[in-house]
Amino acid sequence: MKFNKSKAKHRLDKLFSNYIHNREHETCQMCGKKTGRMNTSHNISRSCLALRWHDLNASLLCYRCHTHFWHSNPLIGAKWFVDKYGQERINYLIKESELPYTFTEAEYLRLLIKYEK
Ligand SMILES: [Zn+2]
Repeated sequence: MKFNKSKAKHRLDKLFSNYIHNREHETCQMCGKKTGRMNTSHNISRSCLALRWHDLNASLLCYRCHTHFWHSNPLIGAKWFVDKYGQERINYLIKESELPYTFTEAEYLRLLIKYEK
């Protein structure tokens, strides 16, 4: 079967989101809410492929926190992030985001296996 990068990305997005929802027990990591619509929120934009499916680069946030704090008030979001996860995590993610990175077919397959579990 021929590898289809577009389908792999789509499948990984779904699997990764399920993984984050399960890891965070359907609880907003910002306000603690456990009901309603929850979003997998990327810390560094998902346009950065090297971090798009990295488990340190996402948090589960309720719709309100994701939209009204994380995306609308980046300084409040950054302060919350440092308080919750520490400055070292920001430094690590920024460093990783700046490294040259080629996403190979093998890397897609490795991540598909990791998140299929
Ligand atoms: Zn929330």
